[in-house]
Amino acid sequence: NPMAGAQFLTSAADLRGLPTEEAPEVAFAGRSNAGKSSAINAMCGRRNLARTSKTPGRTQLLNFFTLNEGLLVDLPGYGFARVPPRVRAAWQRMVEGYLTGRPQLRGVVLMMDVRHPLTEFDAQLLDWGAGVGLGFHVLLTKADKLSRNQQFKALHEVQKALPAHGVQLFSATRQIGVSEARIRVARWLDP
Ligand code: GDP
Repeated sequence: NPMAGAQFLTSAADLRGLPTEEAPEVAFAGRSNAGKSSAINAMCGRRNLARTSKTPGRTQLLNFFTLNEGLLVDLPGYGFARVPPRVRAAWQRMVEGYLTGRPQLRGVVLMMDVRHPLTEFDAQLLDWGAGVGLGFHVLLTKADKLSRNQQFKALHEVQKALPAHGVQLFSATRQIGVSEARIRVARWLDP
């Protein structure tokens, strides 16, 4: 597993708190409950490296992990509808600032629940990334919740909507697509 060595490094509450190393970086994003923490833990082969959404207080932080010569960054996520405008504005400032102002960022792994892909949250991130030519790799998470037919239908629909990006099925609980996702991250980090 090329992601087995990931170690927690630091959290940043705002853009001034970002680590200053210029190592290549891969970010992980997804609206809350998309399965982001579970996917990071599955990819790193660890039970509790990224905290799941039941842990409040870490949700508005950027969490950094070292992996060999690179960094992994867990970006905060939330559900658009349930969030006060002030929280949304703070999230936008931080995540847009990070995505558009981080030259060492090699790519973004974007988790979408396979049953609810391409939310407003996802569209916002893809839009910021497009502005600076960022590559995305989409994990359609919780694939185990759908039949094989439904999984492939969702895969083809998202692939069609995002022809410039990688899209794959993923399940942390059933270990679907985990090695494919690890390889994408390892290639981005390989200088
Ligand atoms: P986050 O908020 O995006 O970090 O999401 P979590 O990783 O905390 O997962 C949100 C919920 O989805 C939790 O109840 C998880 O147990 C569940 N979940 C995450 N990944 C999977 C998966 O691959 N399959 C299934 N069936 N449930 C999952």
